[in-house]
Amino acid sequence: LEVNFAPYINFKGEAKGVVVVLHDFTEVRRLEKMRSDFVANVSHELRTPITSIKGFTETLLDGAMQDEETCRNFLQIISDESERLYRMIRDILDLSKIEQKRISLNLVQVNVQDLISSTVALLQEQAQRKQISITLPKAEPRITLTTDKDCLQQIILNLVTNAVVYTPEGGAITLELRQDSRHVQIQVTDTGIGIPEQDLPRIFERFYRVDKARSRDSGGTGLGLAIVKHLVESLHGQITVKSVEGKGSTFTVTLPIEW
Ligand code: ADP
Repeated sequence: LEVNFAPYINFKGEAKGVVVVLHDFTEVRRLEKMRSDFVANVSHELRTPITSIKGFTETLLDGAMQDEETCRNFLQIISDESERLYRMIRDILDLSKIEQKRISLNLVQVNVQDLISSTVALLQEQAQRKQISITLPKAEPRITLTTDKDCLQQIILNLVTNAVVYTPEGGAITLELRQDSRHVQIQVTDTGIGIPEQDLPRIFERFYRVDKARSRDSGGTGLGLAIVKHLVESLHGQITVKSVEGKGSTFTVTLPIEW
């Protein structure tokens, strides 16, 4: 905040008051801070897998290579961490493209049920490994939407991926679909670990995780929900979340039918 003031003096030379001018720089400063925080966060996030890759490689070269089992374990870690590094770079680039509005939307008629089924199919194997059931929305009535198919697929994929990752063995994921005259609503509900109330307002921020260790173990980048939020906004929609710690979460995406 910049403050300028000058005395207000009337024609008789008497001081009658003060004129105060306030300039609000909060927004400019906030954006600058967000940018520098982002660079600091990216550097930190990229350093973590690289440190691990470097450490395990050096230990192997220093002699750990002699033992076949150790060698295999370390190479697996190196492979997982390289994979995570790759995903992180891909997500950072995606996010900056979306934020700078450099994605061109390709609007087509999308059958939402079909898109949900084909997207969920990509995650069935991962879900089955944890004995998590996934219930799809009713096939009727058919719901169609004019939207960008790739963006919508990415939104569904990220939400259902999280539902699988943050739901313990034997849990359930339910996808629901609703429509009114102007909007289509897609809802993803899980019976997972839930999100503590104090973290809810921040989970769409880049790199924000409730539990860093758990996110890292699951190969998370901390960017999935930030990407979802930006994509939903690119499609002129909204996303909300409700969650109870230890019980589960529901993410609701509302999209306009036409725009
Ligand atoms: P990550 O790669 O860590 O999963 P996201 O941006 O996708 O990053 O999600 C941010 C954080 O929100 C996660 O680290 C997790 O703590 C929380 N989260 C997201 N989805 C769920 C969910 N369905 N259930 C519980 N927690 C979730």
